[in-house]
Amino acid sequence: MRGILIQTLLYGSLTFGIWTALLYVFTNHNHVSNLEKKTQEPASIWSLEKKFHRQDTHGSEEIPRPYVRFESPDEEETKPQKSFFKWSKDFNYSSSEFVDGFLKYGFNTVLSKSLGSEREVPDTRNKKCFQKHYPANLPTASVVVCFHNEEFSALFRTMFSVVNLTPRHFLEEIILVDDMSDSDDLKEKLDHHLEVFRGKIKLIRNKKREGLIRSRMIGASRASGDVLVFLDSHCEVNKVWLEPLLHAIAKDPKMVVCPLIDVIDSVTLEYWPSPVVRGAFNWHLQFKWDNVFSYEMDGPEGPTLPIRSPAMAGGIFAINRHYFREIGQYDKGMNLWGAENLELSLRIWMCGGQLFVLPCSRVGHISKQRFPNQPEFAEAMTYNSLRLAHVWLDEYKEQFFLRRPGLKSVAYGNISERVELRKRLGCKSFQWYLDNVFPELEASEGGR
Ligand code: UDP
Ligand code: MN
Repeated sequence: MRGILIQTLLYGSLTFGIWTALLYVFTNHNHVSNLEKKTQEPASIWSLEKKFHRQDTHGSEEIPRPYVRFESPDEEETKPQKSFFKWSKDFNYSSSEFVDGFLKYGFNTVLSKSLGSEREVPDTRNKKCFQKHYPANLPTASVVVCFHNEEFSALFRTMFSVVNLTPRHFLEEIILVDDMSDSDDLKEKLDHHLEVFRGKIKLIRNKKREGLIRSRMIGASRASGDVLVFLDSHCEVNKVWLEPLLHAIAKDPKMVVCPLIDVIDSVTLEYWPSPVVRGAFNWHLQFKWDNVFSYEMDGPEGPTLPIRSPAMAGGIFAINRHYFREIGQYDKGMNLWGAENLELSLRIWMCGGQLFVLPCSRVGHISKQRFPNQPEFAEAMTYNSLRLAHVWLDEYKEQFFLRRPGLKSVAYGNISERVELRKRLGCKSFQWYLDNVFPELEASEGGR
């Protein structure tokens, strides 16, 4: 009897949880489409860029955030990102296949399967990008894609788009790192389907779950191209996406570059352009998008020039392979997922490199919905943020603890290797970073 009662309660709360989560997604999307209806301007590619092209760097809330990581569920800034959404009347949103797929992968897997492995996406570049020409001999690229239980067609669209839209002589290889997935279709079926790429792909299977940080390091250690390009396993690259990245790194090997990340809607899988934005963060160490200064886009070349960026969004960027090793790759003591993007961004700037967003390079990314049922992600984010704060923020780590006082006494493992690395590289102080790269942070939320 007690067993039945517990079972009923368990299934009851599970069903309630699923529907609450879906309701949350639905209302969020409806809210966004209502917002969209209110704005008179059609959300065309170019009007979006104009709309967000302004003088100041505040008001980032108004930017349609192309790609935002989930953090702890109770934070205001962690709501799923806005997207430009249209409901399709012909789609069955209550089918169990849709609901199960959405809860497992965070996007519409029914639609993803029906799209298949290849499709064309709109060319979202500013027209001025079409006039840019790149040298015929550029460094070669190893594209590193890590995945854990990725949906099969999304993974294949990532690879096909790379193979189809990258000149052969620039693409050394694609390195796929399977971070201990347990889905059946990522086993023999994956091996079998990869044969179509005829040796351009190396597949590495982790023997245990490493998390994306160590998985990327594993992928990088097997790469032989001049440049490492990291992508998530649910991306679709756009036309001439790689050349701007390679060209910038060829000119300066200490330049780390990110494409502009376009949005692939998690429900409709529509590919939408993003406005030109730069990466930033707040004193909670949460990533956010920020407006770009007008002077960076108002010249004769328009919004095509590299945009100086205090931080990178996540796993989509290009870096010289030797430089990646030289500056200490990633902190391998970080767990699972999260904060590694900010840690690398600070390290690049503070230790003699530079970080830019290149608006003429565009890569679409499925903005997955995350549900607050994955505490291990929030836990890893906290642990990793603590490591970052203790190694890189100097006296400013007090700003972080001021906002998150509960974390002051939380353990963060041994950081001596990373402190040593910082000394060995002769990195500058966090004060220098604030003064020279991201003064808006110090001015924000009370600053010091
Ligand atoms: N990933 C992984 N191992 C993990 C977690 C994530 O290999 O333990 C992969 C994941 O499949 C994806 C990439 O790392 O290709 C980035 O993860 P996700 O898309 O969840 O992060 P976000 O888009 O929020 O940065
Ligand atoms: Mn992702």
